[in-house]
Amino acid sequence: MADCLFCKIAAGEIPSSKVYEDDQVLAFKDIDPQAPVHFLVIPKQHIDSCAAIDAQNAPLVAHIFEVIARITKEEGIESFRVVSNTGEQAGQSVKHLHFHVLAGRSLAWPPG
Ligand code: 5GP
Ligand code: ZN
Repeated sequence: MADCLFCKIAAGEIPSSKVYEDDQVLAFKDIDPQAPVHFLVIPKQHIDSCAAIDAQNAPLVAHIFEVIARITKEEGIESFRVVSNTGEQAGQSVKHLHFHVLAGRSLAWPPG
């Protein structure tokens, strides 16, 4: 999608600190980390947000969760939080589906 920051990162047009990549997804470190471990996992295909998940793209979303489990296991991260802010009130600033993976410190609940 033109003018989408994460589409540009997925295409390699904007550099990122890659954690994992395959033909469908990219994981990269958040530019403004909120925990000692903070990376984002995105589909390479543009999807607006969690609100746009449907029967057609659900297998891709399932693959993202499989990738999150694989990365965290490989890095020895046993405790982590997965967050996907959806919509402006929830704090979504980039309108391309992404899952934050946060770890390495105690994480408060409920979130702010
Ligand atoms: P949101 O606010 O939509 O839930 O999450 C967007 C995230 O993208 C933020 O945590 C922000 O720090 C991160 N971000 C914004 N621009 C860039 C960028 O150019 N590179 C990287 N690696 N992360 C970014
Ligand atoms: Zn996009």
